Amino acid sequence: MRPFEYERAADAAGAVATVAARPGAAFLAGGTNLVDHMKLGLESPDLLVDVTRLLPATIEDLDGGGLRIGAGVRNADLAADMRVRTRYPGLAQALLSGASGQLRNVATTGGNLLQRTRCPYFRKSSLACNKREPGTGCSAREGYNRDHAILGASEHCVATHPSDMAVALLAFDAVVRVQGPDGTRSIDLADLHRLPGDAPERDTTLAHGELITAVDLPALPIAARSAYRKVRDRASFAFALVSVAAAVELDGDTVADVRIALGGVAHAPWRGTRAEEALRGRPATEASFRAAAHAELQAARPLEHNAFKIPMATNALVATLRDLTGASGREEPAR
Ligand SMILES: Cc1cc2nc3c(=O)[nH]c(=O)nc-3n(C[C@H](O)[C@H](O)[C@H](O)COP(=O)(O)OP(=O)(O)OC[C@H]3O[C@@H](n4cnc5c(N)ncnc54)[C@H](O)[C@@H]3O)c2cc1C
Repeated sequence: MRPFEYERAADAAGAVATVAARPGAAFLAGGTNLVDHMKLGLESPDLLVDVTRLLPATIEDLDGGGLRIGAGVRNADLAADMRVRTRYPGLAQALLSGASGQLRNVATTGGNLLQRTRCPYFRKSSLACNKREPGTGCSAREGYNRDHAILGASEHCVATHPSDMAVALLAFDAVVRVQGPDGTRSIDLADLHRLPGDAPERDTTLAHGELITAVDLPALPIAARSAYRKVRDRASFAFALVSVAAAVELDGDTVADVRIALGGVAHAPWRGTRAEEALRGRPATEASFRAAAHAELQAARPLEHNAFKIPMATNALVATLRDLTGASGREEPAR
C-alpha cells in the first residue's frame, strides 16, 4: 500500500472543499471497499478525508410517508429500521442479503452506492482492464465471464455493479442528495450509475469532490408489497449472479402497477421498464410474468460463459412476482 495522509473534516463543506481541491484525495466512509482496493493496489489516494463522523446517520420521515436516509447510516441500521421494514421491505431484504453481519455494521449508505465492481479482472492489477487502466483492454470479454453483464455492456467493459441495496433503491425511485464545491444537487438514482460506453473508468455521474449526503425514498405505497430475491453461489457472503427487486399493486387479479429492477446483469442497477410496461394492466399470472421477463431480457447479449443468466433472471423475476401476488399456475421454468 502506498503512503497516504489521513484527516477528518469538521463538516461536509470542509470535506468537499478538501477533496475537490486535490485530485488524489478520496472520501473515506466505512472503508470496506476503498481500503480493500488500496491493499490490492487498485486505488492509491494520497489523502483520505474521513467523513464517517460528519455524515448524517439518521433516518428521517419526509412529508407524505417517504424517508430521508443519511449517507452515514450503516447498512445494518437501515435494514433494521421498522419504517424501512414495513414501507419498503424489499430494501431491508436487499440489505440483509449483502455481505455479512460484520460488514453491514460498518458499511454506509453512501459507500454502498459507490462500491466498485467485483469483476475479477478489475481486481487483479496485473491483468488488462479498461475500468482500472483505460485503454488497456477488457480481459473479461475473452476471458471467464460467467459473472458478467448481459445488458448494456460495451466492447470496453462487461463488468457488473455489485450493490444489492442500489437495486432496491432503484426500484423505489430513490433520489440521491449530493453536496459539491458549487452547492447541492439531487440526482435520480437512475441517473447516478453509468453504463460503461467508452469510458468504463467512470462508474457514476458524480464529479470528483461531490459528497453524497443522503438518499431520499419517496412515499410509495406500492413498496409495502415488495421483495428482493438474490441468486448467488453461496447462501451468504456472495455477490448476486442475478437479483430482482420488485413491488406490485393488484386490482383484483390484475396488475395495477409494478416496479422492477434487476441486479447482477449490467454495469449499473437495471430498471426493468420494459417488463413494467408489459405487465401493467395484465392478469397477475405466471404467463404474464414470463412475458414481462421476456420483454426486458430480449435485449440481453450474453457472453461465452453467462448465457445462463437469461433463464436465471427470467425465473427469479417470475418467482418474485408469483410470491408477491400469490399467483398460481406454476409452469415449467425457463432453461
Ligand atoms: C467480503 C465482502 C463481501 C461483500 N458482499 C456484498 C454483497 O453481497 N452485496 C453488496 O451489496 N455488497 C457487498 N459487499 C460490499 C460492501 O457492501 C461495500 O464494501 C460497502 O457497502 C461500502 O461501504 P463503505 O461505507 O465501507 O464504503 P467505503 O469503502 O468507505 O467507500 C467506497 C467508495 O465510496 C466513496 N464514498 C464513500 N462514502 C461517500 C459519500 N458519502 N459520498 C461520496 N463518496 C463516498 C469512497 O471514496 C470510495 O470510493 C461486500 C464486501 C466485502 C468486503
